[in-house]
Amino acid sequence: MHTNQLWETVLGELELSISKANFTTWFKNTFILSMDEDGVVVGVPNAFTKAWLENKYHQHIVDALGKSSRGNIKNVVYRVAALTEQPQTSERVVSVEVNNSNNPATSSPILASGARSDGSASSPYGLNPKYTFQSFIVGKGNDLATAAARAVVDRPGEVYNPLFLYGGVGLGKTHLLQAVGNAMLETNPKAKIIYINSERFVNDFINSIKKGTMDELKKYYRSADALLIDDIQFIAGKEQTQEEFFHTFNDLHQKNKQIVLTSDRPPKAIAEIEQRLISRFEWGMIADISLPNLETRYAILEAKCSERNIEIAPDIISFIAENVQNNIRELEGALNRIIAYKQLNNTSLTLDVVQGVLGSLSLSAKKSGLTPKKILTRVASFYDIAMDDLLGSSRRKELVVPRQIAMWLMREELKSSYPAIGQEFGGRDHTTAIHACNKIEDAAKTDGKMKSDIDLLRQQLYAS
Ligand code: ADP
Ligand code: MG
Repeated sequence: MHTNQLWETVLGELELSISKANFTTWFKNTFILSMDEDGVVVGVPNAFTKAWLENKYHQHIVDALGKSSRGNIKNVVYRVAALTEQPQTSERVVSVEVNNSNNPATSSPILASGARSDGSASSPYGLNPKYTFQSFIVGKGNDLATAAARAVVDRPGEVYNPLFLYGGVGLGKTHLLQAVGNAMLETNPKAKIIYINSERFVNDFINSIKKGTMDELKKYYRSADALLIDDIQFIAGKEQTQEEFFHTFNDLHQKNKQIVLTSDRPPKAIAEIEQRLISRFEWGMIADISLPNLETRYAILEAKCSERNIEIAPDIISFIAENVQNNIRELEGALNRIIAYKQLNNTSLTLDVVQGVLGSLSLSAKKSGLTPKKILTRVASFYDIAMDDLLGSSRRKELVVPRQIAMWLMREELKSSYPAIGQEFGGRDHTTAIHACNKIEDAAKTDGKMKSDIDLLRQQLYAS
């Protein structure tokens, strides 16, 4: 086997057992530098990665190489090397896609049902086995969504069909969605559970039109016992795909096959999507996942430490939980940094050290270049209204509320003064800004929809 192919197979294996963040961080720009009968030299981009692979992933890598080479390769060493040193570089450089959506998840439907293209084993249907209910911490923010997901596993196709989960970036939608799939497979290993990201769904659809394999694709989706589609918002604006999805949806629904969808926003807030699909999405149960509170963040960090058998002092866990508030992916990232630091330096951690290590990550996340303009743009696109209307003076409720929310966000997130907020809105009086902020403050206490809109918006403001 060509070294590039071999390494790709190995990466495919590793992808399944390592979190996406870690996989991307540590395996990006790695390749096989040289190979002989019983060993390989892995090229890595820097000394930090080298130390980390040696200390942390060596066994994983040896195992995966052993598997992929049918036990021929036993010795693995790492050397810092530039990508250009890669032997016989083929057209496809082995690097890790950084911006791709969740990894094995995106495997092609035709390939997903068992084998990967390179013939190595993979979890069926693109599910990542580590995303389970067991590893999902339930707390305020995700308890309703979790309960609904569990109900769906207990009685697929019967209670909530479809189940529509929505929430901001990095809050556990993919995890929960895949937990549903994994749990269904546990109950019924023969079930055909199709998990796919909607971007992939759209691409496959387009490709099959080109290749004239639509029938195959239709058959594939319609034979699912459960269809789990991640980030359905990407179907927006894709009319033909929506059309096909509509029929697939109806077909499965009619047969009482479970459908679960996730999105970064509620069905109604997805622009450019057909009304008939929106109404389908609203047929079953809609549950939102919102920002985890402090206790939940603490519990998640504790669970991740114990999962990995690593001890971190409670005051340090508290520090991370208090400072990384915007999403769980960031929370995990912060923890990973701390763990990496601890292991590489072989020292015990003090709060000072942790503050230093996290400095650039969590604390500046709050000041991540947020401006009044960004708030306005976000709010306008969230409510699907024109900027002129947002800044204008119309008293229509569908414009007044977003306007007040934007003012409130400026106050909360940027600590802008009331006169400054008034200025942003075409020189309105500061009392208008005060009134708006009070109004939203109050509404958020009693109005669940308002609260969840605000949470989502805040999330989006800090999502990169
Ligand atoms: P989303 O799909 O909403 O963007 P993910 O499901 O990818 O978010 O979650 C981001 C990361 O946070 C994943 O590694 C996931 O395992 C972890 N995570 C999210 N929510 C929880 C939770 N409640 N308990 C444990 N881990 C979680
Ligand atoms: Mg996701």
